[in-house]
Amino acid sequence: MNNTLLTFQNVSKVFRRVGFGFLSKTAVQALKDVSFSLSSEPEVLALVGESGSGKSTICRLILGLEEPTSGEILYRGKSVSEWLKNNKKEYIREVQIIFQDPYEVYNPFYRVDRVLWMAIKKFNIASGDEANRLIHESLEAVGLRPREILGRYPHQLSGGERQRIMLSRIYLIKPKLLVADEPVSMLDASLRAIFLDHLRDFKNLGISTLYITHDLNTAYYIADRIMIIYSGRILERGPTEDVIKNPLHPYTKMLITSIPVPDPNKRWQDRVVIDVAKLQKVSGRESVSGCPFYNRCQFAMDRCERNFPETKRINNQEVNCFLYE
Ligand code: SF4
Repeated sequence: MNNTLLTFQNVSKVFRRVGFGFLSKTAVQALKDVSFSLSSEPEVLALVGESGSGKSTICRLILGLEEPTSGEILYRGKSVSEWLKNNKKEYIREVQIIFQDPYEVYNPFYRVDRVLWMAIKKFNIASGDEANRLIHESLEAVGLRPREILGRYPHQLSGGERQRIMLSRIYLIKPKLLVADEPVSMLDASLRAIFLDHLRDFKNLGISTLYITHDLNTAYYIADRIMIIYSGRILERGPTEDVIKNPLHPYTKMLITSIPVPDPNKRWQDRVVIDVAKLQKVSGRESVSGCPFYNRCQFAMDRCERNFPETKRINNQEVNCFLYE
């Protein structure tokens, strides 16, 4: 039986920007030949990369906010565009998202009770007392007291409470696929661990999560598998333990060596969080046809500038780097 929930097949995305003047058209390659799949056997797949690497484009493609320039995106065997054309409501229920800043998705005039009731009504989840019971349960599941929180407006909630309301929506809706786009980057460390625990617990509800982040530490904390993306290309992927303990690609190695406390036996609170976005960038034009890491790689060879390496499988990992050919 096919247990694939989401599939990206050689997906590329080019944004064309038209400026002023006759010659001011530019094309930006946001993704190139991206392929991966997410299983319906609940799992957390982390997509790790710095800002501008293409993570958000992948997110927008899954939501149908953009169309791929080439390649195919399949959800349960059917293309996303087909889902949105013929079964939009079902798709939206099954594929949910949590954003970095939940404040932006709240209507400032809607109190928490209305936000949760709307989810219940929109997807015909329950009615009457049963709906009330589910709302109370979902809030308690994320550590909120219904009597204190239900009557509040978004501006009366802290950032952590707003993100927990988003989690309680997921408990209510129970999608099959959750796309979590940098969901903890605005939370302080204590709330971050709690939030990530909930994401991991969603597997018990049958939910698979694509966890999008620039923070390798949080990916290590919750993900079953990790994919490293750089400048629109997936450079390495594999089971989390393998990628973290035996990184293959020079870029992944650079990320790993930036973690000051790499001991997995340390408590999470003791670990130092690295911020990929703050890693020093080497200036220079990125190699478009070859390896995108060319300008930052200490092992770069001539051919790296011209060609992108084939995917090489090494034990449980896959890597795209000429060092392994
Ligand atoms: Fe470095 Fe070449 Fe490997 Fe790219 S392909 S990471 S430039 S050695």
